[in-house]
Amino acid sequence: MKKREAHNSWSLVLGEVAGIQLEVHVTFALVAVWALFALARRGASKEVLVLVATMILGVAVSLLLHELGHALVARMFGLKTREISLTPMGGFSNIDEMPETPRVQLLVVLAGPAVSLLLGGLLFAISAARGELRGPLPFNDTNANPVTQLAWFNVVLGGYNLLPIFPMDGGRALRAGFSFFMDYVRATRIASRIAQALSIALALAGLEYGPVVLFTAVWIWMSARSEVKTVRTRHALKSLLARDVMVTGPTLDADSTLEDASLVFRKTFQSEFPVMRGTDVVGVMGFKELVSGLEKHGAQGLVSAAMRTTFNGVDFRTPLEQVHQQMKDASDPMVMVTRGERYAGVLPQQNVDELLRIAKALEK
Ligand SMILES: [Zn+2]
Repeated sequence: MKKREAHNSWSLVLGEVAGIQLEVHVTFALVAVWALFALARRGASKEVLVLVATMILGVAVSLLLHELGHALVARMFGLKTREISLTPMGGFSNIDEMPETPRVQLLVVLAGPAVSLLLGGLLFAISAARGELRGPLPFNDTNANPVTQLAWFNVVLGGYNLLPIFPMDGGRALRAGFSFFMDYVRATRIASRIAQALSIALALAGLEYGPVVLFTAVWIWMSARSEVKTVRTRHALKSLLARDVMVTGPTLDADSTLEDASLVFRKTFQSEFPVMRGTDVVGVMGFKELVSGLEKHGAQGLVSAAMRTTFNGVDFRTPLEQVHQQMKDASDPMVMVTRGERYAGVLPQQNVDELLRIAKALEK
């Protein structure tokens, strides 16, 4: 058997299921050992220790199955999961960033709670068939039956994850549901408003039930806010492609005169134009080239004599963020946007800068 490296240096590799590495964080194992040790020190019987150990194992398996639910459905849509890890805070799946397709998101997000609820139902059915069905008991109660206890655990796990708050599955499912009818940013905003309304209700309950409830309310509020901020920023920058922002305005003909070219400059706000010969882009002419061309060759000089012939091009599907970086690195006032071999439009730096500034302002 080949030795596998954990993705997290504080994790131990448990194994692999369907190409997904299962890991347990050291702290999870420590908490489990500590719980057993503490019980033993207080003189717990061997029976109790075995019961608690069984429960911890069952909880670990339940958490892994919940995460596997997410990961396996994600895989149906071609999304890879690097690892699933168990921590004292619960299970986590490191899944590829999901596309913002509502159907994909909804299915991946609901798969985890669905597994938990189904598993809970199955365990309830087993304990009912054995006549052992009863309410949840403290985890170290010797009257507790592990099957029934784990049935409760899974139902609570599924239900808790369905709460409509971020970053729980329920919040993300709600957002996916809304995004069937509206754009993703708006769907995120509405879902987060619902989470915040819930946190206000919880904060009011906190007056009665104490600071933990109050802190939870604050945490829900903050998580909702940060989710909106993240999505909005990502959208402003990343969802835009070169083709969304490019200018498809007029072009200059390489064989026309500078006088004709200056008319085109005067008619639009654009400051850089591609120079064409037939369907090929042969150069670029900006305001600077026009002026120096007029000085050098006069009004009857040709565009081809005054244009600059070095320019950069990007594919029309290039993310705007990347184009922006490229322009900055090359201190290029404009890039040509191409679709396959053909000219599609131009992207003046000025336009890109303005957009990014708007995006940054929205972020605040
Ligand atoms: Zn989940």
